[in-house]
Amino acid sequence: MADPKGFLTTARQEWPRRPVAERVRDWDEVYVPGGLLPLVERQADRCMDCGVPFCHEACPLGNLIPEWNDLVSRADWRAAAERLHATNNFPEFTGRLCPAPCEAGCVLAINQPAVTIKNVEAAIADRVWADGLAPPQAPDRQSDKTVAVIGSGPAGLAAAQQLTRAGHTVVVYERDDRAGGLLRYGIPAFKMEKHHLERRLAQMRAEGTRFRTGTEVGRDVGAGELRARHDAVVVAVGAREARELPVPGRELAGVRQAMEYLPLANRVCEGDLESSPLSAAGRHVIVVGGGDTGADCVGTAVREGAASVTQLDIRPRPGDERDEGQPWPTYPHVHRVSAAHEEAGELGSEAAEFSSGAGDLGSGAEAAGLDARLFAAATVRFTGDKAGRVRALELVTVDEERRPRPGTARTLRADLVLLALGFDGPGHERDGVVGQLGLAVDARGCVERDADFATGTPGVFVAGDAGRGQSLVVWAIAEGRAAAACVDRYLSGSTSLPCPIGAFDRPLVA
Ligand code: FAD
Repeated sequence: MADPKGFLTTARQEWPRRPVAERVRDWDEVYVPGGLLPLVERQADRCMDCGVPFCHEACPLGNLIPEWNDLVSRADWRAAAERLHATNNFPEFTGRLCPAPCEAGCVLAINQPAVTIKNVEAAIADRVWADGLAPPQAPDRQSDKTVAVIGSGPAGLAAAQQLTRAGHTVVVYERDDRAGGLLRYGIPAFKMEKHHLERRLAQMRAEGTRFRTGTEVGRDVGAGELRARHDAVVVAVGAREARELPVPGRELAGVRQAMEYLPLANRVCEGDLESSPLSAAGRHVIVVGGGDTGADCVGTAVREGAASVTQLDIRPRPGDERDEGQPWPTYPHVHRVSAAHEEAGELGSEAAEFSSGAGDLGSGAEAAGLDARLFAAATVRFTGDKAGRVRALELVTVDEERRPRPGTARTLRADLVLLALGFDGPGHERDGVVGQLGLAVDARGCVERDADFATGTPGVFVAGDAGRGQSLVVWAIAEGRAAAACVDRYLSGSTSLPCPIGAFDRPLVA
């Protein structure tokens, strides 16, 4: 650390967001372009190099955070880039998308705001590209082994890049027309612009990874055939089985799953569609589900010009500070205000409420809270018009045990309802990849695997959400890297690829 007193003299300052009124008129990232570098060297200097860096432990990738904080505070960007890429293939993704469990584990966060680790990561990652420090790393020697990676989300991409660099011939099979998984179709561009993805894909192609997009394994090519054609297979198909809300009126037109809605907005940004056939423009939108997918629906609906946006969370509003049950350095469940919530709040998005029972629009519209969220809110039913279109959502307030509180029933106007209730694993599609490869699945539909990411089918490995269940980009990358190390060892007898998780407690060199 260049300044041992940095944490005493410098206050935490985050990458500033653009003004709400400006950013909701476009799909660009919410941050001020060029606003990061002027801050970040001093922010990195706040790292105490505390000796026992809990941030390492908290990061699934084992990012070498104090090392690159020190290098950034000394403006040694080249060395910082090398240290960052030693543990993370795609820091520009995590630098934008990660909820940063590392910051929850930062020792400074015991009694002060944490170091802005995620911002420092994004700054190094962006500098890498600006300074041309990320050339393709084609392998010196090619093995005679081939690997099929099924799925091109962050898990599949990380596994593919590691295995390609280890010298194997890697083919990535992707059902969608473009590679990227949820980074492409799911996560909105205002959280991560897609040029970051394109750049990495170009790097991977230059290194020798082959992509077969528009190819659904299990339908366009048999999974068994793929297994026979390749020496190993990595299943990285994600967890996309959307959970349902079995209440009366679910069948009405206009009640849709979040993942039916979000990819259409992505396609508008890609230039595939002029406008979304499921656009929120002019509609009263209710998002059911209080998680990040729901927040992405809020931000998307705001940009599409919704008349109102309300997000319902069945859980009570969490506190602003850690409670006793979630001590440092755990990742606490506290009230967080995402960029999308900030936008919905600042634009005064309001829940339009019907007068009780009558079905007519009441005169008073009640604010859904400062940022369009209603907590402890459980959906009872949807009601529709004669054409079968949803018109309203009835809800009640629930207690901690999710029992309705008497006298709390209310009806909100709803022209578009988006369900964001979480996802199960791919195991329910028994006639698809999972069934064809004979993979065992658990109760959540996730593919079972051992500590080496191996399934019960020889030569078939699993990484990312498909095995772990709906999770995070950082976990997907970590699992992709770890699974690649295990595949490399399976193919070659030993490996020099790093293995951040899973088989980490045993030496990987056989
Ligand atoms: P995915 O990204 O789901 O990729 C799986 C890929 O496999 C897909 O491209 C799919 O088309 C392909 N595929 C599936 N079946 C087949 C087949 N049979 N043949 C060929 N290809 C197939 N995490 C964060 O850390 N930060 C965030 O901000 C964040 N936002 C999110 C927003 C949304 C809307 C959602 C749904 C999730 C979000 N997540 C976020 C979670 C994160 O995106 C996932 O944990 C991560 O993408 C999982 O990566 P994966 O590679 O395992 O799967």
